[in-house]
Amino acid sequence: MPNKPQPGSSLRDLILDLNQTPVARMRLFSEGVNKNTRLFFYETAVGDRACLACGNCVDACPVVRDKQRFVFIQNQRTSMALENIVGLECRRCYNCIQACPQVTKENKDYANSYRRGEKAVHLLLACTIFLLAATGIITSHYRNFLPLFEVSLLDVVHRALGMVLIFLPVLYYMIDRHHFFRLFRKIFSWNRNDLKWVKELIEHLRDHRKNPMPYTGEFNTAQKAWYLYVVCMLPLMAVTGMLMALEFYDTTEPAYFNLLLIHMVVALITDLLLFVHIYIKYLRKWAITVYDLVRVFIKRHHLNYADLYEKGDYAFARYFTLEKRPF
Ligand code: SF4
Ligand code: SF4
Repeated sequence: MPNKPQPGSSLRDLILDLNQTPVARMRLFSEGVNKNTRLFFYETAVGDRACLACGNCVDACPVVRDKQRFVFIQNQRTSMALENIVGLECRRCYNCIQACPQVTKENKDYANSYRRGEKAVHLLLACTIFLLAATGIITSHYRNFLPLFEVSLLDVVHRALGMVLIFLPVLYYMIDRHHFFRLFRKIFSWNRNDLKWVKELIEHLRDHRKNPMPYTGEFNTAQKAWYLYVVCMLPLMAVTGMLMALEFYDTTEPAYFNLLLIHMVVALITDLLLFVHIYIKYLRKWAITVYDLVRVFIKRHHLNYADLYEKGDYAFARYFTLEKRPF
């Protein structure tokens, strides 16, 4: 029996691991339009894998949404235009591959499953940290107000979740070794560009109209710092939590108090950073939508964003989609 190829070893995996738009390259792995899917001159269309300029990938891309909102000029709704807008900031969500009619189902399924293990671990990590924070806050702040059974139950759940947290890196290694090592390689590689990134961010915060946001793609400096923090936070929380749970020190000893203090301060910092992470990933796009709608309302006295396109008010739409936003 032939050996099963390892993730990360094929050309397709190499494309899916890059921080660049994958849809055009994935299209080339597909069979393309065949003679049954074109109405005219089908004999010349056999095996045509070219871009149809349908713009589906442009509409599906979160980077385009953040940078330009809608691209409405027809000849800019192609995979080449997508590559121009996204540059090296691809987030490897593969929405463009899913949206493209020229990519075959087999290739879509492949891309869909490529980061499944990584995403499952990420979801598990997020849920575990959230539940740890909830149970930790309740037991530390409301212990005296709750019945004894509920407090004991929450303590047990908190400790069990702590064990899950310690086990998660092992699980990640077991189910997706390729992405596990990729993550560690990236978060431990720091250089001058990171310093430059910080300077650009400070300039952007000083004057967002003149200075664009620094690189926001995968493993940008802030994201690397966040991942590095999580990697360091896990053993610290595990050790302090275990020493307290195993009653290594008596609760009246200063050493116990110090452990508790470290545990709670790190937990608090993690919760705050988690909120920032959730804001950047999920809430920011809603903030941008509201901001845009308010600006439409102030200038046009209605809230209908689509109306700008219907009435051909492209100049205005373009003006405010390209303007740099403050967040
Ligand atoms: S961010 Fe997602 S949709 Fe945009 S180019 Fe990258 S993989 Fe495609
Ligand atoms: S989704 Fe449409 S525009 Fe994008 S690459 Fe595929 S065919 Fe081209």
